[in-house]
Amino acid sequence: MKGIVFNILEEMTEEQFGMQMWNEILDEATKSTGVFTAGKNYPDDNLFEIIGIASKKLNLPAETIVGAFGEYMFHRLNERHPVFIEKEPTLKSFLKSIESVIHVEVNKLYQDLNLPSFEYFDNSDDHLIMRYRSPRKLCILAEGLIRGASNHYAQRITLSHSTCMHKGDAYCDLEITFNHD
Ligand code: ZN
Repeated sequence: MKGIVFNILEEMTEEQFGMQMWNEILDEATKSTGVFTAGKNYPDDNLFEIIGIASKKLNLPAETIVGAFGEYMFHRLNERHPVFIEKEPTLKSFLKSIESVIHVEVNKLYQDLNLPSFEYFDNSDDHLIMRYRSPRKLCILAEGLIRGASNHYAQRITLSHSTCMHKGDAYCDLEITFNHD
């Protein structure tokens, strides 16, 4: 997992709970030193450990933290790389550009990213299935990122996720319905 992910998690923790909380979490972490360079790779276990400690300290389910983190991460990544959003007029076209445009470009910027893969099923205007595959099984992070994008476009969505790797399925289906008033 790239250092930038840890940098953004630190920003979110400090913004919402103060620097003291981030320091306390790192004090308990045994797998990492707490120094993360944006472009360097760190073991995924470092991230999972930090989230586990945060979950205990904040008395929040790990899933809640990962989902909130995804939402926050969308906004931070968009600040750093606004071009991807600027090119896409709608939430749906943005989501459909993730695999073929964004991941391709981001892979040129950073090495060894091991990004998840998405397969799309687009059968009607107000519906989209994003089939998520990743050995990291961070589908809840993907959900958070999608919600962050939904906020950005002010496009309300309903997200369902009944096919999930955490339930033993081979992939996760993130089923998005675009709501219109
Ligand atoms: Zn899932």
